[in-house]
Amino acid sequence: MGRFKSSNTAPEILVRKAIHRAGRRFRLHCKGLPGKPDIVLPRYKMALFVHGCFWHHHDNCHVAKIPRSNPDFWVSKFRVNKERDQRVAAELRRLGWTVEVIWECEAKDPAVLDSVLLERKIVEPSPLGKSR
Ligand SMILES: [Zn+2]
Repeated sequence: MGRFKSSNTAPEILVRKAIHRAGRRFRLHCKGLPGKPDIVLPRYKMALFVHGCFWHHHDNCHVAKIPRSNPDFWVSKFRVNKERDQRVAAELRRLGWTVEVIWECEAKDPAVLDSVLLERKIVEPSPLGKSR
């Protein structure tokens, strides 16, 4: 059924680049943490997941359609995936981590991504007031 969780996906790389541009240090695929967060900002105790809209079934997202063939299979598959995401986030929070999700559809648009990163306090506004 193809891969569910893979490393170094295109949206992941876009998110890393944006965080790097904003001058924050991070680590990747932290195996010691529940759910192996895609990006970890140790100084801020923040764990980030870059989720594919289809596999993680992003609510109200046009990418997160339920395939027409075998819908029951997909509905239960998406439910399992979402439940796992929630369980992992809860475990991380219990360990004192802040958990944020960045969706594939948000990562694809650089302007949207920058504002999402600011909104979720993953990066800070540039002190120099640069327009990026
Ligand atoms: Zn989406």
